[in-house]
Amino acid sequence: MFSEKTFPDHSACVVPLLFQRVVKTVNMKISRIECISVNVPLKPELRTKTAHGEHVTSPYVIVRVHTDDGLCGLGEATVAPRWSGETSIGCVAAINGLIAPALIGEDATQITRLTAKMNRVIKLNPFMKSGIEMALWDLAGKAADVPVYQLLGGRVRDSVPIKMVVGAFDVERSVALAERFLNDGVRCLKVKVGPNPEEDIERVRAVRNCAGPEIPIGIDANCGWSVTQAGQMLRRLAEFDILFAEQPIPVENLADMPALRRNSSIPIMADESVFTVHDAWQVARSHAADILSVYPGKHGGIQATLEIANIAKAAGIVCSMGSNLELGIATAAMLHLGVAVPAIASELYPGDFIGPLYHEADLLKKPLTLGPSAALVPDGPGLGVELDEVQLERYRDNSTDFRAVSAS
Ligand SMILES: [Mg+2]
Repeated sequence: MFSEKTFPDHSACVVPLLFQRVVKTVNMKISRIECISVNVPLKPELRTKTAHGEHVTSPYVIVRVHTDDGLCGLGEATVAPRWSGETSIGCVAAINGLIAPALIGEDATQITRLTAKMNRVIKLNPFMKSGIEMALWDLAGKAADVPVYQLLGGRVRDSVPIKMVVGAFDVERSVALAERFLNDGVRCLKVKVGPNPEEDIERVRAVRNCAGPEIPIGIDANCGWSVTQAGQMLRRLAEFDILFAEQPIPVENLADMPALRRNSSIPIMADESVFTVHDAWQVARSHAADILSVYPGKHGGIQATLEIANIAKAAGIVCSMGSNLELGIATAAMLHLGVAVPAIASELYPGDFIGPLYHEADLLKKPLTLGPSAALVPDGPGLGVELDEVQLERYRDNSTDFRAVSAS
């Protein structure tokens, strides 16, 4: 039904190119999985603090998935014991002992099947699985010579607005941080609360006074308030024109979230309450939140994040990109989702595409374009990032000590 006019001589060059891509893709067997523990400190002035504790350094794991045709996919497991119960030592042991034996020899492009295989050999461990899964997406993009966002359906936005985080510090330090961010051109802030209600109020008041009325400000209690405290705090904080209130109460109190939401003029965001697709379904069906905080590490990968975004879409609510302060590779994975998924509504609730800004190093040859008010997705094939071997060696961590970090 197509005339020759519709498809002129281009077919002569297009078809072989597509054919090459397909051939490359179907022969891509996983030959080796490499994982490297790193420990990257936060910049001293940007160390952060939440109701879970202080975040001073990031003992994460960089993943390289090699294929028999010479391609290498990059991943990053931003494991944090106080967040998901995962450690870098445990992550490396699980990859070497369970994941690699299950995946070596498999076709790297079969991401759905390989994710199911990972879930069969070890339960939970979402940040470790996400590190592997994003490397598979990186490989798929490199094999097809397109950015990952193109594999996800293409870009629906050119850039993603971001917000910077003011930790749960005293008023003086919180204001100094807010001033620094605003002077840099940041256009949205998130203030950590939760450890002490009276100090929380004073911190939010001080940051609002410093920012003026135009800057949107969200808060994140990281489960730090009781149900009663949260009800009181949301009423008291309303005068500061709060964009959203993230995880005001503990995960165990999910049954109290719908009433809290109904009685609050501030939109409620679920973060710690949404790790799995099932969690997202429970939150959505019980009308417990207006917004779901999502990111690949927490959910076990890019595909699981898409599934949760679709639950939000079906429920008539939106998602916001969260973070546990990733380095460059995992932030790139977030950016590909951020530009490709309509339900991850950074225009309404700016995302946490910010991890590298807080760290001494991002481990990338070319830094991502992050901030001051928005972030751009890298345009190269796959995740579009290259590992900096010099930085990797500098921050490589061969110790066998458990290191404690908190979540953001
Ligand atoms: Mg949070």
